[in-house]
Amino acid sequence: MAHFAHARVNLDALTGNARLLGERAGGTPLMGVVKADGYGHGMLPAARALIAGGASWLGTAFIHEGLALRRAGITVPILTWIIPPGEPVGDAIEADIDLGVSDMATLETVVAESRRLGRTARVQLKADTGLHRGGVDPAVWGRVVQAAARAEDAGHVRVSGVWSHFASADEPGDPSIASQLSVFHESLEVADKAGLTPEVRHIANSAALLTLPEARFDLVRGGIASYGLCPITDYSVPGLRPVMTLESRIALTKRVPAGSGVSYGHRYFTDREATLALVPLGYADGVPRAATNRGRLLLGGKVRTISGTVCMDQFVVDVGDDAVEAGEYAVLFGDPEELPDVPTAEDWAQILDTIPYEIVTRVGVRVPRKYVGGT
Ligand SMILES: *Cc1c(COP(=O)(O)O)cnc(C)c1O
Repeated sequence: MAHFAHARVNLDALTGNARLLGERAGGTPLMGVVKADGYGHGMLPAARALIAGGASWLGTAFIHEGLALRRAGITVPILTWIIPPGEPVGDAIEADIDLGVSDMATLETVVAESRRLGRTARVQLKADTGLHRGGVDPAVWGRVVQAAARAEDAGHVRVSGVWSHFASADEPGDPSIASQLSVFHESLEVADKAGLTPEVRHIANSAALLTLPEARFDLVRGGIASYGLCPITDYSVPGLRPVMTLESRIALTKRVPAGSGVSYGHRYFTDREATLALVPLGYADGVPRAATNRGRLLLGGKVRTISGTVCMDQFVVDVGDDAVEAGEYAVLFGDPEELPDVPTAEDWAQILDTIPYEIVTRVGVRVPRKYVGGT
């Protein structure tokens, strides 16, 4: 494959970020969240770099992600939390993966699989403290806790954790934060009274890890911040470094007259004779089509704006009279400490009215990841 474009992943930055987050959390153990192919960075390299930075747990959304970590020889505890019916729960039990349980039906499946295998399953009960997504509803929390306690007495499960997730930790001061913390404390009390002795109680994501010492408990789950991106608008974390740089060589340049319509639909016109540079990355590669006439990139030493429609495989940039040539690199987003003025994934998110998570996770499979650093 011609590597004219790639997502460069700085593993040393990832390791450094994990270390920094561990310190920010006052030494609370860190779970490195590596779902969605390590937020688009590559799950296995990301997992290893996070562990090198002190992450003592890993978190994934799905069982198959956890199994892939195990197959790669990763032995740290793993928690996985979206378990639709029909998922390979038995495989997860055999691989010693902690199962995040959000309802009675899933608990029953886990117990049945544990009986079948003759092996104790590790279960982390998730309380819905107000996000109203996953998690056990408070109205049935007591019943699920009781059932888990009975299954533990019978040797089918070990309730290794009790946990929850915030709705708006990225908006410090939002009233839902205090309310969810209070419901979480009540949920823990119910579990305690039922005789459960979880090894880890946890609720903090990156935003809470950064801003809420009272939400640390026994473990913090660091996702986006590990990848060097801040979940909170207008909040910066000194020392945190963006891990991914998305860059491409220019495929060709051409000179066009004033008044030339550019790309599909001619949504951009040159206002004078100009050089157009073609960047061979498109929405199939994760450059949102909404970046038409809006996305910014560093090219030929200047920050410029995409000219016209982002296509499936390419877009165009009007570089005026600047001496930009085919083969030169354009950088869509990266680390300003390494490349002064380069836009960040956070800048892209702001321009496109989304969050940096979406910018990095949607970088497509056609874009090779190129790893630098690491051991
Ligand atoms: C994705 C996810 C995280 C990590 O969130 P960040 O905001 O990226 O730190 C933590 N916990 C759960 C349950 C998640 O789904």
